[in-house]
Amino acid sequence: MARRVVDVLVPVALDRAYSYRVPDKFDVAPGDIVCVPLGPREATAVVWAENPKPSPRLDNRLKEVEEKLDYPPLRPELRSFVEWVANYTLSSRGMVMRMCLRMGEHLPEERERVGVRLSGSAPRRVTPARQRVLNLLADGMARGKSEAAREAGVSTSVIDSLIDDGAVEAVALPPERVAEKPDPDFVQPEFTAAQPAAAAALKTTVAQGGFSVTLLDGVTGSGKTEVYFEAVADTIRAGRQALILMPEIALTAQFLDRFAARFGVRPAEWHSELSPRKRARTWAAVAKGDVPVVVGARSALFLPFADLGLIVVDEEHDPAYKQEDGVHYHARDMAVVRGHVAKIPVVLSSATPSVESEVNARRGRYARLALPERFGGQRLPSVEAIDLRRAPPPRGRFISPVLAEAVKTVLERREQALLFLNRRGYAPLTLCRCCGFRFSCPNCDAWLVDHRFRRHLVCHHCGFAMPHPPNCPKCGAQASFVACGPGAERLEEEVHVLFPDARVLVLSSDLVASVERMREEFADVAAGRFDIVIGTQLVAKGHHFPMLNLVGVVDADLGLSNGDPRAAERTFQLLHQVVGRAGRDAGVGHGLLQTHQPDHPVLRALIAQDREAFYNAEIDLRERTHYPPFGRLASIIVSGPDRHDTAAYAREIARAAPINENATQGVRVLGPAEAPLALIRGRHRMRLLIKAPRNYDLSAYLRRLLAKAPKRRGAIKLEIDVDPQSFL
Ligand code: ADP
Ligand code: ZN
Repeated sequence: MARRVVDVLVPVALDRAYSYRVPDKFDVAPGDIVCVPLGPREATAVVWAENPKPSPRLDNRLKEVEEKLDYPPLRPELRSFVEWVANYTLSSRGMVMRMCLRMGEHLPEERERVGVRLSGSAPRRVTPARQRVLNLLADGMARGKSEAAREAGVSTSVIDSLIDDGAVEAVALPPERVAEKPDPDFVQPEFTAAQPAAAAALKTTVAQGGFSVTLLDGVTGSGKTEVYFEAVADTIRAGRQALILMPEIALTAQFLDRFAARFGVRPAEWHSELSPRKRARTWAAVAKGDVPVVVGARSALFLPFADLGLIVVDEEHDPAYKQEDGVHYHARDMAVVRGHVAKIPVVLSSATPSVESEVNARRGRYARLALPERFGGQRLPSVEAIDLRRAPPPRGRFISPVLAEAVKTVLERREQALLFLNRRGYAPLTLCRCCGFRFSCPNCDAWLVDHRFRRHLVCHHCGFAMPHPPNCPKCGAQASFVACGPGAERLEEEVHVLFPDARVLVLSSDLVASVERMREEFADVAAGRFDIVIGTQLVAKGHHFPMLNLVGVVDADLGLSNGDPRAAERTFQLLHQVVGRAGRDAGVGHGLLQTHQPDHPVLRALIAQDREAFYNAEIDLRERTHYPPFGRLASIIVSGPDRHDTAAYAREIARAAPINENATQGVRVLGPAEAPLALIRGRHRMRLLIKAPRNYDLSAYLRRLLAKAPKRRGAIKLEIDVDPQSFL
């Protein structure tokens, strides 16, 4: 008799599920997480469907499901989501499903945690260090040993000596919880101005349930977070789970504290820097429904929530939501899809919505909740341009006298200034004064960036790094190198010259060792331990620095002229956000933009604080040119070690495009052309851009095109990016 067969999706780059026999020992159903033999190894996989009519030819050869793992099954809603994402992004279902399976198997047994508490007997000898430990433990609570040492500011040997002494005893602690339960009623916020109406509307949305998208559109500092916390609170009250997505996990330190201030405890976190153990425990707790709120980076979207009731996408416009390797997906767009599949509300929050979301709100497809004023009546910062053509900085410097004067004034008032320059390192280009030789990356089509702090020349695309050579590699001249252009580190030098007494901090992602360290630095800024902060885009987002009243943008033109169709939108959002860090608490915020083109529409809109003007112009342009959201785009990047072969193959792909369909449906295949970054990591890159009308099924078209394309040869790789954000 034929035995039952199921189709199992395995976590590899395969679209189809494999058939396995169900053994007699146990039963499985779709969604179950199982262990199956896969070639020479075993894989954790998911039962995807029953297979009622397996081919009889296969029957004897089929392998058996080895084991059913002790996890809750992946819910139908998550499985539909996987199907949807795979279909849309042209990724294999196996790779998308793999993003859901982050339970971390094969971790070693968890070690017992050792805690310490007072034993009740007095120590025989008391040193200042011992006293600090005794003070800390005076409340009678047990704490982890290393935690107690850290809090008391002593080494663990001091605690060991107190244990030997009998004053402190060691106890076994229960395993640390993933997160305590947030209390929706921990504090009742008092809302003002437009906040009560927005909060009430969100509460109604949550109460009604079902799929909806709300754009929470509030100026910087308007209290968007406080407002969407109400939706989170109601979701917790309803016993369901809420997911809050953040573009950059480093910015969450303040966020976690604000969450704790509202809900009594910090939420569970999900991001790439979690330890494997923490990740495993969080995953399991989310699946069991033990974790009411998760704050996470984009990958949190693939967590197996037991009962997801709400998704919030904070800073929804942020480009960091786009994943650009492996499965190319946009977490904001996919959050909307997951909300649709799960039939739950989605809240998108931003002061500078993406053009896509803005258009959806204007058309009424998304509900819009507006918070037009800052909390506490704080005024929005005033913004002015510094025309570098008229008031340039001194030779070899980058801070114009006007900006320097403004910084001086805030320092005299004992307030903070932020100098924003979205460029890591010391200088973007280094050349030889004698022969003009320029340092470029051997693997990429890019200059090496001088990182003096790390004492290396570094490629920002592949990570190649080399120490500064003493002589020019080409002409042999000694000490002949000149740094061209500014980077954050170079700006620091200039700031020290201009303001020798100021306490200066450079905040740049390459300078901090860990997320923890970065969080400490943000806290230091918020606490006023620095006078001038020099920051790359890391500082633009979400932070609340109460003493910061001046933001100087050192190069407002950077990013406007790179030929990217989203350059205007990106620059507007980034500069608006960074200027929005000023004047959030007390005093008057001020933004100064150093530019060579003060009449550029983006700069004019920023200066006039006329957001509508910017969106109107940008939407109009996109509509005329059929760019998203008025048309659809996908890109295909062909890369390979040999330039000629890569280009030849890219041309074959273009020829595989279904010509008839192109003409009748209005699809256009542009290129191939050499990508702006023509070489990365030793691979030559060609791009094709496919443009299609708005409601066209571009994914299906791409699938047809690829099916007709000749087989890939050798080491040539194809990357498909539906709705590309990057055009490099
Ligand atoms: P946004 O996210 O819109 O930029 P935030 O949510 O960061 O604004 O709010 C700005 C500041 O105002 C924060 O420090 C926040 O705690 C405070 N705030 C906003 N609304 C309230 C409120 N209703 N009660 C108390 N503080 C609030
Ligand atoms: Zn490189």
